[in-house]
Amino acid sequence: MLYNLHTHSHYCGHGSGEIAEYADYASAEGFEVLGFSEHCPFPTELFHRTRMPFAMMGTYEKDVRARASEHSFPVLLGYEIDYSEEFDSYFRTVLEHVDYLIAGVHFVACPDGTYHTPFNPGFSDDDVRRYADAAVKVMETGLISFLAHPDVFLCRRRFDKVAEEAAITIASAAAELSIPLEINGNGLLKGNDESEGYPSPCFWHIARDYVSTAVISSDAHTVKNLDRTLPFCRAFASDSGFDVLDPYVKDGRIAFRKEQES
Ligand SMILES: [Zn+2]
Ligand SMILES: [Zn+2]
Repeated sequence: MLYNLHTHSHYCGHGSGEIAEYADYASAEGFEVLGFSEHCPFPTELFHRTRMPFAMMGTYEKDVRARASEHSFPVLLGYEIDYSEEFDSYFRTVLEHVDYLIAGVHFVACPDGTYHTPFNPGFSDDDVRRYADAAVKVMETGLISFLAHPDVFLCRRRFDKVAEEAAITIASAAAELSIPLEINGNGLLKGNDESEGYPSPCFWHIARDYVSTAVISSDAHTVKNLDRTLPFCRAFASDSGFDVLDPYVKDGRIAFRKEQES
């Protein structure tokens, strides 16, 4: 089944392409489900460099809904959130009028009030521990349909003992809370230095002790990348011993089933 629930566009400011272009491309490629998950803005414009202005949410939402009405397959409206407790009720309000939320941990809050990101070098051991805690916290909220790129903390790090502990923390929580983890194709398009990168074979090898299914996504930020990495994600899942989960819409919410059952 061809699907993608982790899709960006020009709205986030670091992606390109109109919603209509993604939907038309998906239609031409034979997608069965397409979901848009723009980086969710904050009322305070926190992390504004990587997301649309708060005031633009209505435009984005109308745009996706209008395109959805033009296609026979489900075109879903969602957001990718960076969760913090402070904004819990805000995200709950957002979820009331969209189809789904996913979460990515793109920033960790440090005791000195700054934020560190795994996309930059120097993501420390403590940052990795904060990352794992943040991932567990958002899975516990019940807000999200799956956790995006659980292994993105390895973007600029090697896999070591601290990473192993983080992998165990995240995967065991995912199993306990029944939150799917995502094999993310976007990491494949990033230059590889000495880092483990993502999707990380080491991370998923450990995760397999706890979970046996995974969602695959391209995390596309350009139209052409909508399906470019999906075959690799599927092969990665199979090589790592995971069944790919397929989404379907049930009572206006996303649910998943194992591929062979669909
Ligand atoms: Zn992005
Ligand atoms: Zn994303």
